[in-house]
Amino acid sequence: MPKIIQDFIPKSQTNQRPGHSMKPKFLTVHGTANEKKGADAEMHSRYLHNGAGGRVVVWHYTVDDKEIYQHIPTNENGWHAGDGERGTGNRQSIGIEICENSDGDFNKAVKNAQWLIKKLMKEHNIPIERVVPHKHWSGKNCPRLLLNMWSTFIDGIEGKTVEAPDQEVESETVTNGSIVDYLNSIGKDSSFSARKRYAADYGIKGYKGTAKQNTTLLNKMRKGKPSKPKASYIGKRVESKHNGQLRFYNKPSWSDKHVAGYLKKGYGFPTIVDKVKVGKGYQYKVKNSKGHIYYVTASKKYVKVE
Ligand SMILES: [Zn+2]
Repeated sequence: MPKIIQDFIPKSQTNQRPGHSMKPKFLTVHGTANEKKGADAEMHSRYLHNGAGGRVVVWHYTVDDKEIYQHIPTNENGWHAGDGERGTGNRQSIGIEICENSDGDFNKAVKNAQWLIKKLMKEHNIPIERVVPHKHWSGKNCPRLLLNMWSTFIDGIEGKTVEAPDQEVESETVTNGSIVDYLNSIGKDSSFSARKRYAADYGIKGYKGTAKQNTTLLNKMRKGKPSKPKASYIGKRVESKHNGQLRFYNKPSWSDKHVAGYLKKGYGFPTIVDKVKVGKGYQYKVKNSKGHIYYVTASKKYVKVE
């Protein structure tokens, strides 16, 4: 296995050490696009230490055919994804550059990068779908030598999490993009625990994040609203347990002028239709035996539902 040399850029050099804290969720793969002799990992480390020609740029690792240089810690962000100061690529991904120097063995460098990726996936619990090319974030043709063989590159990451092949995926399977991309694109949390919650909302039982479940979830989320489970109070009777007179209203309101009447303890309405937020509290929208709609507090302090 290749040697990892940690040669961190000093914190004072803020163009190359922005230092925003980061919990890495993606691995971003780049190619140096520098075929010059000697343009290896050590040379790129020096380049960054020397100020990167005045550019504000930095990534986490550079890999060549012999060794790996780490330039900044993985819990700090880099500037390598081209998706902006707050971009997910820049702020949530570990950047890995693969050297293309003509005096090196590119295939070996790729193998070393695959080894590093496998290690980082394990360390940071990053799934294979989150190993992405630079192009994913900004459209840049990078890593130019790997883009047309990306799936082969991914397949070469030994021991990557292999998901069961999909055989009974619905006909409208979405093939462009993953659930993670989709959630990121609409600004929603795409973590596993969040996806588990969405899956529950959409009635996907036992969500483990398999490829099939991800596809189902993506399709459902793209189609829109989850089928809201019927709240337990709907259709039930609500009655006052308040010792005094409990107000009910002809509008969702707490205002005196909307008071429609009063309930004595033990009196109530036969049917709850809905629960609505009114100001800081909640009211039940209720129907009386004649079908008229009223509103009454939903506070457990004053009413009970049965
Ligand atoms: Zn790149």
